[in-house]
Amino acid sequence: MKKKKILFLLLGLIMIYSFWLCIQLVRFKTYTNPALDKTPLEIQGSYHIHTTHSDGRKTPEKIAEFASRSSLDFIILTDHGAPNFSSMATAGWKKEILVLAGSELSVSRGHLVALGFTPPSAPFSQNAEQAAYQIKALSGLSIIAHPYSKVSWSWGKPIGYNGLEIINAKTLLKYDLLSSIPYLPSLLVKPDYALLKMLKRPVKNLNKWDELNHTNPTMGFYSLDAHLLYKSLLPFLRLHVLLNNPLSEEFEQASHQVLSALHQGRFYNAVDYAAQASGFRFWAQKGQKRVQMGEKSIFDSHATLNIRAEFPFTCEVHLIHNGKKIMASTEKRIVHQPTHPGFYRVEVYLKERTPMRKDVPWILSNPIFFQEKN
Ligand SMILES: [Zn+2]
Ligand SMILES: [Zn+2]
Repeated sequence: MKKKKILFLLLGLIMIYSFWLCIQLVRFKTYTNPALDKTPLEIQGSYHIHTTHSDGRKTPEKIAEFASRSSLDFIILTDHGAPNFSSMATAGWKKEILVLAGSELSVSRGHLVALGFTPPSAPFSQNAEQAAYQIKALSGLSIIAHPYSKVSWSWGKPIGYNGLEIINAKTLLKYDLLSSIPYLPSLLVKPDYALLKMLKRPVKNLNKWDELNHTNPTMGFYSLDAHLLYKSLLPFLRLHVLLNNPLSEEFEQASHQVLSALHQGRFYNAVDYAAQASGFRFWAQKGQKRVQMGEKSIFDSHATLNIRAEFPFTCEVHLIHNGKKIMASTEKRIVHQPTHPGFYRVEVYLKERTPMRKDVPWILSNPIFFQEKN
C-alpha cells in the first residue's frame, strides 16, 4: 500500500514537471531583430569543430551543410593532430560556407588550438611553449582550449598565446551533466532551450582572461568543441567577425580576411540561441581615427569609447576596465570617456525572459587596449 502511494506521488511529480517543462518550451523563443540593417562587413561563424578526420561524428561536407541551414558564413574545423593534415586538406568553400581548418594539439600544458599557420614540415612540438612559438613563426595563432575542463591547462609563465576559450560547450554538456538532467528531455524537441539552460557564467575563464590581458593581449573565444549534435550546436555560440571589405569569393583571400580579423581580435562572441546579436559594435574614437576591438592605441584623455547595442529587446551593457566593471547601462548608444589607460571590454546581458541565466554574458566583446604614453 505504501509502495503504491510513493509510486502515485512520483507519477504526480513527473506529470507536474512535464507540464511545467511543456509551458516553458512553448513560451521560449529566440529574440530576433527584424530592423537589423545587415552589412556584408559583419559575418558570423562557429569555432572549434571536430569531424571524422579525428573523433567527430560527421564529415566536413555534412557539417558545412548543417552550417548552411543555420545561415552561418564560416565554420572553423579543429581536428586533433599535430597538425591534422587530412582535416586541413578539406578547407575550402562547401555549400557556400567558408570552411577553415586548423588543428587541436595535445601539448604539455593541455589542449592548444592552432589556426591560420602555413603547414609545418615536421609535427609541432609537444611542449606547449615551443608549439606556441612554432605556430607564431608560421604566422598562425594559438588559442588555449577549455582551460578548466577535464583536460585542463596548467598555467606557466604568460608567453603570449593569442586566445583563450571563455565558454566551451562540450565542457558544459559532458562534465556538468548532473545539473543538466532536468533539461535533457528537451534536448530532443527544443535543443536551443536545453543548451541555453545548461550555460553557466564562466567565472574562472573570465577572471583568467582579465589576468592574462594585464600582460599580453589575449582574445576571448566562445567555442563549441562539437563532436556530435552538430545541427543543434552550430547556431548556439557564434563569433561575429568584422571585416574591412566584403568577404572575397576567392578562398585564399576569404580565409585570410577571417583569420586576420581573429588574429587581431576584430570580433565579438555571442549566444545567438538566446537572441540575434548581429549589429553590436564597440570601438574607440580618437579624433578621426576609429580604434577597433583587439587594437592597441596610446591613451588619450579626449578619446571616447563607443558602444552600439540597438536591439529591439532590453539588454544591459557593462563596460569593464582592467577586469573591473565601471559602468552599466540600458542605453542603446553609449559614449564613455575613459579616464585611465588599460584594457576595456564589454559584456551585454539579455534582460528579457530567456532560459539563459541572467549572469551569462549574451555578448562578449574583445578588449581595446589603451597604452600609457612612454
Ligand atoms: Zn580538447
Ligand atoms: Zn576539441
